[in-house]
Amino acid sequence: MRILPISANFGLNSVRKNNTQTRVMSAMPCDSVSFTGKNEGLRKVIILLGAPNSGKGTYARKIAQNFQIPQISTGDILRKELKAGSELGKLAKAYMESGGLVPDELIMKIFKNRIAEKDCAKGFILDGFPRTVNQAKQLDELLKEDKNISLKIVNLDVDRPILYARSASRYTCEDCSRVYSIKEGYNPETAKCECGGKLIKRADDTPEVLTSRLENYDKQTLPLIDYYGSKVSNVGVHGKDAPADETLARVMEKLQ
Ligand code: AMP
Repeated sequence: MRILPISANFGLNSVRKNNTQTRVMSAMPCDSVSFTGKNEGLRKVIILLGAPNSGKGTYARKIAQNFQIPQISTGDILRKELKAGSELGKLAKAYMESGGLVPDELIMKIFKNRIAEKDCAKGFILDGFPRTVNQAKQLDELLKEDKNISLKIVNLDVDRPILYARSASRYTCEDCSRVYSIKEGYNPETAKCECGGKLIKRADDTPEVLTSRLENYDKQTLPLIDYYGSKVSNVGVHGKDAPADETLARVMEKLQ
């Protein structure tokens, strides 16, 4: 079975097979983009907003590398709990699989525990949090004590047909959550993530669940754009999908 690369312009990694073995491409187009930030010395807090499949996870990973701060994905934390069969994972399962949001109370508990960890001292990048105005208000409360913060908020505004196209080809590493794009008709079975993990289709990566996730996004998460107002910098992908490095460069510009 052949696995071919999809044009990696979704901001996703691509997977391909050469003549002898399955090979996962390590160099994303994004990897050529490198930046240094201003506001050195301040605790850097970056919020990436955007609908499901807008590329938050992919860009957050690269931004985290650039600024040497951790990427905090509440979705990844929940998936790990789910896989481990923990109480928390069991509580979150039904919400996640139906495309709904996990209750704020549970999310805030996870989030507070995570940012209390040592590696968050110099800052962090948030991917998938906050997702409700209530979460944003609680985040404000947590951050307001700290006068030493540089807060940046970027919204990835990607057209809906592009979100559906990305979802159709998306596979995720079961171990490290890295996202890959695999062209329709090719089999990801023999492909492995760079970390050696198996590539799987996420249970919530179907058109039906995406529709439900987008409805929830419109109702519960989109109001964050108004909540944060002029603090938000928009990066749009309209009409047709854009190369990952191009979009990443535009995001990074907003973070300087
Ligand atoms: P993600 O990987 O960010 O797309 O998140 C996957 C799923 O985890 C979401 O569809 C929600 O069910 C749940 N989730 C992740 N982050 C949050 C959050 N901040 N608030 C509520 N639910 C969340």
